[in-house]
Amino acid sequence: GKGCIHRALTSESATNLIRSVDAFLFDCDGVIWKGDKLIDGVPEALHALRVLGKRLVFVTNNSTKSRRQYARKFVSLGLDVSEEEIFSSSYAAAMFLKLNDFPRDKKVYVVGEEGILEELELAGFTGIGGPDDGKKTIQLKSNFLFQHDKNVGAVIVGLDQYINYYKLQYATLCIRENPGCLFIATNCDAVGHLTDLQEWPGAGCMVAAVRGSVQKEPVVVGKPSTFLMDFLLERYQIDTSKMCMVGDRLDTDILFGKNAGCKTLLVLSGVTTLSELKDSSNNIYPDYYTSNVSDIVFLSRK
Ligand code: PLP
Ligand code: CA
Repeated sequence: GKGCIHRALTSESATNLIRSVDAFLFDCDGVIWKGDKLIDGVPEALHALRVLGKRLVFVTNNSTKSRRQYARKFVSLGLDVSEEEIFSSSYAAAMFLKLNDFPRDKKVYVVGEEGILEELELAGFTGIGGPDDGKKTIQLKSNFLFQHDKNVGAVIVGLDQYINYYKLQYATLCIRENPGCLFIATNCDAVGHLTDLQEWPGAGCMVAAVRGSVQKEPVVVGKPSTFLMDFLLERYQIDTSKMCMVGDRLDTDILFGKNAGCKTLLVLSGVTTLSELKDSSNNIYPDYYTSNVSDIVFLSRK
């Protein structure tokens, strides 16, 4: 019956989870923090898992920061996490180009923020657009011809607080006038916690805007893509049956983990409520759910 498919984490199942899992993959917003606010119990829980020898990996769909910028955010929140443990969708986008041998002499047009440009640069690619085009405007009048760089071979779209009609035309021309141009979305999250008190339109909104004019589907490199999971598994060489994905979203985090055969834990400290999990319209079931990430450790000690 329905009762069996929604299992609250218990003292017994938390103990088993810790015993059987070598690596915990944590979603960030809604699990570790909410906007800029640390979620209760996180430092103690991460510390306890490290003491037990668990590998910790942090996977975020928010492309506005690079791994380096996230490492600084972790440190500023008092969390001892290194750059190598962080997989952001901005990094995933740069790694997608690298693994697909994207030519170094081609450019990448970015509808997005600093994090994507920084990851492109670190990977040796030339990114254009992004924040630099944030204040550009266009005057639509006769004989006006919008000029774009014909050497753009990929367009990356992520969350962009400064999206405008100039950027939309730029991205549209790159993709429509060059059939070989890649169309990459960092993620398609509907909303995100740009601040702790409320949700804001996510990258799904910007991706939909470009998709609307180019009439093509993007390659999505963030959660729940198999690209990101395969990339991560290549790095860590851990059997997915010994991994647990912990997240607050069913359609990104839990799907990401389930598709790969990881154990999955939904936490209710973010965007998903217990009634949404149990709603008959939902068909994504985590192995367990619990209120807060620290329950993994605290329940296992009971
Ligand atoms: N994208 C944006 C713009 C966000 O603000 C957030 C959360 O704040 C996300 C994506 C989701 O991030 P995460 O995958 O860490 O939950
Ligand atoms: Ca999240």
